[in-house]
Amino acid sequence: MNKAPKTAITPTRVDDYPEWFQQVIKAADLAEVSPVRGCMVIKPWGYALWENMQRVLDDMFKATGHQNAYFPLFIPMSFLEKEAEHVEGFAKECAVVTHHRLEPDGKGGLQPAGPLEEPLIVRPTSETIIGSMYAKWVQSYRDLPILINQWANVVRWELRTRLFLRTAEFLWQEGHTVHATSEEALEETRKMIDVYADFAENWMAMPVIQGEKTPAERFPGAVSTLSIESMMQDRKALQAGTSHFLGQNFSKAQEIQFQDQDGNMQFAWTTSWGVSTRLVGALIMTHSDDDGLVLPPKLAPSHIVILPIYRDDEQRAAVLEYVGKLREELSAQYYSGRRISIEVDDRDIRGGEKKWYHVKRGVPLRLEVGPKDIDKNAVFVGRRDTGETKSMDRDQLVADVIGMLDSIQTNLFDRALKMREENTCEIDNVDDFRAYFTAKNPDRPEIHGGFASCYFSNEDDLEPLLKELKVTIRCVPLKDNDTPGTCFMTGKPAEKKAIFAKAY
Ligand code: AMP
Repeated sequence: MNKAPKTAITPTRVDDYPEWFQQVIKAADLAEVSPVRGCMVIKPWGYALWENMQRVLDDMFKATGHQNAYFPLFIPMSFLEKEAEHVEGFAKECAVVTHHRLEPDGKGGLQPAGPLEEPLIVRPTSETIIGSMYAKWVQSYRDLPILINQWANVVRWELRTRLFLRTAEFLWQEGHTVHATSEEALEETRKMIDVYADFAENWMAMPVIQGEKTPAERFPGAVSTLSIESMMQDRKALQAGTSHFLGQNFSKAQEIQFQDQDGNMQFAWTTSWGVSTRLVGALIMTHSDDDGLVLPPKLAPSHIVILPIYRDDEQRAAVLEYVGKLREELSAQYYSGRRISIEVDDRDIRGGEKKWYHVKRGVPLRLEVGPKDIDKNAVFVGRRDTGETKSMDRDQLVADVIGMLDSIQTNLFDRALKMREENTCEIDNVDDFRAYFTAKNPDRPEIHGGFASCYFSNEDDLEPLLKELKVTIRCVPLKDNDTPGTCFMTGKPAEKKAIFAKAY
């Protein structure tokens, strides 16, 4: 006899994490694969989540002095060729437009026609096209800094794609700034990784480690790349955002020059920074459970769903009236700058089915109201994060709702941080390192240690070992990392520790 599944999502996280991820997305109706290779369709519930992320990030960018602008989708191929490392890094992932119209092929089909004089690249990132404009806009030190952000879609022809985490087309923002000095540009690079960390921790409830990438992991063309790294529930790392100090590499390639206060011509210093719809994937993987999506209240498109329960028209009228007033009082309140958003689900479907529908979509609070609750002036309340349910006095609920949402937000962060702390280990020798990253059960290669924090001296020395174990250096943490030690592999003196992990 088949055992009935005890969870709303099959498989569970423990049984098959990658498949669980796909099933959570499906059950919450966040997105779907499209007929176009590697490109996804983001459905309304998923898009509403992205919009909330956008709104908060956009406010943060503006509060730090940035403005939005928009640049073309297409980049002339010659622009990309100007920065040698940059072109090498992106060439393999570029979609190229070579023709500008279609004509009949004589066999009932169509064929490209009108070859372009110069092929156009669909932007994989916009340093070159934006830089070409900055070269015109910057003349004197008085024109600096330029602090611009663009919300856009980009295309990187990724071979192995996964919904939200890695798609061929993705939505993102890219900040591009120009400064008169190296110090200012470095300060900007740091400021923006701080903004990302603030957003990840205080809005997504996702703890992150801020660090610097090693040379092999840098953005092509950057002098240094900072990232935020987060642990998913399968203990793998996900890079959730990057901020690049580009030095004068791009300004030299694109002639972004200015006259300084002494009348001398100088090349400017540039930065770029971005986060993408990958953040939606990060949020899903950080908080969701075997019953589906779990949303942090600060970003949830709906904070509360109310399910009216009744048997006949008379009860219906009474319940809907009670629910209407409750809704009004709850939605008059603000949580983290947004009016409390409430759905009333009065669809004619079975109560159990309806409840599970909203559990799977991750709505933070579920309120059930029937005639018996009305008699007691009560509401039956379910918390999505803990699964806890209880009957509450209606007026108490109205008074406590902000505190309850906040408690869910905090619990999600604490839970994720605990998970990361329990699965992070200091390691100072190769044997332990190997054991930590080797699956205990050969049939379950996904089961391994987590994050290892180790001193290292030179990443080239580690390459064979890391390749063998399929482990990467995630970053060299910026915080609490000033005491030198010895390299776990070579025993050589080492300045800093790095975080090592298997990664997405
Ligand atoms: P980069 O320009 O490579 O530093 O990437 C900027 C941001 O986009 C980072 O936060 C990445 O996590 C994210 N990103 C890079 N490639 C993809 C992809 N194929 N799908 C979704 N997000 C991506």
